[in-house]
Amino acid sequence: MKTFRSLASLFSELEEISSYNEKRDKLAGFLENLEPKEVKRAAYLTLGTIGADYEDTDLGIAGKMAIQAVGEAYDEKEKKINKMLDKMGDLGDVVQKIDSKTSSRISIKEVFSALQRIQRASGEGSQGKKIEILAGLLKDAGKLGAKFITRIVLGKTRLGIGEQMVLDSFAVAFTGDSGNKDTIEDAYNKCNDIGELGGSLAENGLSSAKRYSIVLGRPVKPMLAQRVDKVSDILERVQTDEIAAEEKYDGERVQLHKDGDKVIAFSRRLNDISRQFPEIVEAAAKQIKAEKAVLDGEIVAYENGEIKPFQKLMHRRRKHDIEKYREKIPVAVFLFDAIYIEGKSLLKKPYPERRKRLEKIIRPSKRIKLARRKVSTDFQEIKGFFKKCIEGGLEGIIVKSVAKKSVYQPGKRGWLWIKWKKEYAEGMQDTFDLVVIGSYHGKGSRKGHFGALLCAAYNKEKDRFETFTKVGSGYKDKDFPEIEKKLKKHKVREPPPNVRIADAMKPDIFYEPGLVVEVLGANITTSTGHTAGRDGDKGLALRFPRFVSLRPDKKPDDATTIKEIRSIKNG
Ligand code: AMP
Repeated sequence: MKTFRSLASLFSELEEISSYNEKRDKLAGFLENLEPKEVKRAAYLTLGTIGADYEDTDLGIAGKMAIQAVGEAYDEKEKKINKMLDKMGDLGDVVQKIDSKTSSRISIKEVFSALQRIQRASGEGSQGKKIEILAGLLKDAGKLGAKFITRIVLGKTRLGIGEQMVLDSFAVAFTGDSGNKDTIEDAYNKCNDIGELGGSLAENGLSSAKRYSIVLGRPVKPMLAQRVDKVSDILERVQTDEIAAEEKYDGERVQLHKDGDKVIAFSRRLNDISRQFPEIVEAAAKQIKAEKAVLDGEIVAYENGEIKPFQKLMHRRRKHDIEKYREKIPVAVFLFDAIYIEGKSLLKKPYPERRKRLEKIIRPSKRIKLARRKVSTDFQEIKGFFKKCIEGGLEGIIVKSVAKKSVYQPGKRGWLWIKWKKEYAEGMQDTFDLVVIGSYHGKGSRKGHFGALLCAAYNKEKDRFETFTKVGSGYKDKDFPEIEKKLKKHKVREPPPNVRIADAMKPDIFYEPGLVVEVLGANITTSTGHTAGRDGDKGLALRFPRFVSLRPDKKPDDATTIKEIRSIKNG
C-alpha cells in the first residue's frame, strides 16, 4: 500500500516539469507500480477529484471553510492564515509552510476515504463535520501531503495535467506504448470514468479497453460535428448519393437515460441536469415508448411553437427558482439520435437505422420533438433546406452521413456529421469556443472592469492551452459583471503550467483554464504575439474578434482545438 506522501512527492515533481512527454512518462512510471485499486484512486486525485466525471464529486468546501480547517489543524488564528494567503496566493503553499511534519505514513486509500467522507457529509451540521474531517486529515498528512490535500479540496491541483495526459500515461504504463492512447481514449469516451478505466487497464491490459460499451445511467461523451468552409465540401466529404440534413438547434445538448419511469438528463459536460429541466424529464418518461433508452438531443427555449435564442435558455441554468423559470422560459427537446434501446447498444448501427428506431419509440409532444430533417439525393434541395432553416432563425444544418459506416462515435469530431452554419455562408466569419486565461484592465469607460480577455484554443496533443486572440469588443454592459464574477474563482497569481502565453501578451490577471466563451472572428493570420500552434516564433491568431456569449455548457477541453483552427485556416 503506497503512502499519500509518495503521491504528493510525485505531484511536487510534476509541477516542476514543463515537457509534455517527460510529465506523462513520470506519471506513468508511478502508476505502473501501483495495485489496480490504487491506480483508480491515484488517477482521480491527479485530476483533483474523487470520482467519475458524471458523478457528484463536489466536496462542498469553499475557501473560507478550508481556512477554518487549516486554523483548527494547526491551531493558528485565521487572521494570520489570511495574511499569509494574501502574500503567498495559494492556501496549499501556506499549509506547507505552517506544517512542520516532514514524514507521514498515511496511505492514499486513507486520504481518499476521508475525502469521500467530506463529500458525503450533508444536511444539518455538515459544514462543521467537513471542516473537522479535513482538519484531522491535514494534521496527519505531513507538510507535502497537506499542501496537495488543500489544493485538491479547493479544486486547484495546479499540476497542469488534464484527462488527455492521464489517458496517455495509462497507455505508457499499462500497454508500454503511447500509440495505444487512441484505443484508450475511445473507451474513455464511452465510460467517462478515468479511475475505473485506469484500474481495469492495470489489471487486464489493453483488451479491457475494448470491452467498454454504453450502460444505462452512465453517460457517453456526445458525438460532435466537423465544419466545412465551402458548401461544395459537404458533397466531397459525404460521398453518398443520398444526403440527410437536420436542423441545427442552438441550445443545450442533452443525453436522456430512461429506465422505466426514471429519466436522467445529462449535459454535454456530463452533469446531471434533470433538476433544471423537470418538464423534460416528466415528458420523456411519458413520451418515450421504450422501457430503457438512451437518446441524444438538444434542449431549446421554446414558446408558442417558436425556438428562442440560446441566451434565453441560459437563464434556465440555475439551482434556485426552478419552478418560476419553468413558467417564464418554457423549453422543449429536439431528439436526433438513439444510442441504446431495451438493453442493446446501437452505437455500432448506422445513422439511418438509429433514426428509424428513434422515430419508432417517440410520441412527439409539446416538449418532446424529433429533429426535423430533409433527406434527398438532390443537393439543390439540401441547399434550399439550409436557406429555410436560416430564414426560420436557426443556426444552420447538420449533415449526417447515411453510409453503412455511419456509426455513433462518442466524443469524436469526425466527418460523419458536418455542420454548416450561417456565419460560414456569409464569408470568412466563423465562431470559436475559446478558454479565457487572462484579462487586461480597462481604461476610460471600461475603468474598473476588464478591457479585453486573452483567449486560448486547446492543443489536445499536448493537453495545454495556447493563446489565439485578445477579445476587446462585442460585450454588452451586463456582460462585464457576469464574466468577472465567473472569472473570479479561476484567478491565479502565476500562469498555470498548462497555458502558453507570449511575453508580449502578458495579461494583468491570469486565470487557470475554466471559462469557455464563444467568439466570432473575421480571419486567421500568424502573429508573434500568440502561441496557438506555434511554429518557430509565430502562432496562429484570430483577427477582429467579437465576444458572442458565455458557454457554460462547455469544458475547457471542449474548446476549439489547434487542429481545427489549422484546418479552417488551410481551407
Ligand atoms: P458546435 O457546438 O457549433 O460544434 O455544434 C455542434 C452542436 O450542435 C452539437 O454538439 C449539438 O449540441 C448541436 N446540435 C444542434 N442540432 C443538432 C442536430 N440536429 N444534430 C446534432 N447536433 C446538433
